[in-house]
Amino acid sequence: MLTKAPKGTKDMMPEEAYKWKYIEEEFAKICELYGYSEIRTPIFEHTELFQRGVGDSTDIVQKEMYSFQDFGKRDITLKPEGTSPVVRAFVEHKLFAGPQPNKFYYNTPCFRYEKPQAGRLRQFHQFGIETFGSSDMMADAEIICLAQDFLRKMGITDIELRINSVGCPECRKKHREALRKFLEPRYDELCETCKDRYDRNPMRILDCKSPVCQELVKGAPMMIDYLCEDCQGAFDELRTNLDALGVEYTVDPGIVRGLDYYTKTAFEFVTTTIGAQGTVCGGGRYDHLVEEIGGPETPGVGFGLGKERLLLTMEACGAQIPEPAGADVFIAVMGDEAKAAGLRLMREMRTEGIKVQMDVMGRNIKNQFKYANRINAAKTIVIGADEIERNSFAIKDMETGSQTEVPMEKIIEEIKK
Ligand code: ATP
Ligand code: MG
Repeated sequence: MLTKAPKGTKDMMPEEAYKWKYIEEEFAKICELYGYSEIRTPIFEHTELFQRGVGDSTDIVQKEMYSFQDFGKRDITLKPEGTSPVVRAFVEHKLFAGPQPNKFYYNTPCFRYEKPQAGRLRQFHQFGIETFGSSDMMADAEIICLAQDFLRKMGITDIELRINSVGCPECRKKHREALRKFLEPRYDELCETCKDRYDRNPMRILDCKSPVCQELVKGAPMMIDYLCEDCQGAFDELRTNLDALGVEYTVDPGIVRGLDYYTKTAFEFVTTTIGAQGTVCGGGRYDHLVEEIGGPETPGVGFGLGKERLLLTMEACGAQIPEPAGADVFIAVMGDEAKAAGLRLMREMRTEGIKVQMDVMGRNIKNQFKYANRINAAKTIVIGADEIERNSFAIKDMETGSQTEVPMEKIIEEIKK
């Protein structure tokens, strides 16, 4: 136990961590290009926030949260998703009172007690976007377009954008009735979770992953056929905007974001390249969430994008991630005087932004060279008594093996070439 990470968690070793850094930097770049600002919220929040923000009847709140009481007897939960904390911050800092829209992006770990499998972990990581203040379908189209541009930039070729509308509380009432009527004769065959969903929020049944339930809902009434005039108009407008942006999509009436606060737009980017956990990015509009969390009525729209699944998909698509460069220079030294000279030179070089290393293991000169090879140093400088006396060092190019003798005061200039 002591030397094993908890189930559903993973170490990010250096061989992998550089890939994470790459996607994080690229995501930040594209968000800033689109005018989004970074927001960072705490890893834990009051449990109540997620009960409200994610919804009491959801799988997340029912059985997936890492919740505990702290020593001050506060109910605390490790964040299972990114939206509720951002909404909380938006309300707490009264951003609703300032100019709209407010456009945020974030990069966060999330925690859910799920059955670990490929692309499904207990600590996983998300990129996210939230826009507050706009009910215009321009905002929805913008975040979808951003997600698509990012996925393209990451070299993902094999992914499909599916869009739908989940309507508003008004039109959803009619759909809920029709759906219950349709499912009533099939009720006994539903899984236990869906029996509960039947009462609380039957639309979630459409999203059940059990094959039995999937079979049972075939031919069920779909929300998209029950949209009120306003919601239908919004959906048409979303499509017009996506067309104008040149974003390709398919309409999939089966996409549901089951929370009561989700309204209108729902979308997913789905791939078949990484097996069953194929949803890389999911998002939608939540026009009633800010209110639910105690703010004034404020429309919002956003998405969450799973970084583990993103990386799996990139790998499946053969996407290239630039590997970090090895050291520019390794300084090999013989003797104490040389060591002191080496240290001075190393410090100067680092000030100049040159990636340089020296031996810290007390190795002899032969093994220092071996080590220089292992860390892929482009050049080696040897310092011994002779070099100090001549006040000039030999720079060896590790690839060609050629050597150049360079006077001490020219050495940095020479390396920079
Ligand atoms: P799924 O249907 O796969 O369970 P979800 O609807 O629960 O996904 P969201 O809450 O919308 O997922 O989270 C946004 C994204 O985060 C998902 O599209 C997915 O890429 C990723 N994600 C969700 N849960 C996990 C997990 N346990 N491990 C890894 N990635 C996850
Ligand atoms: Mg899930």
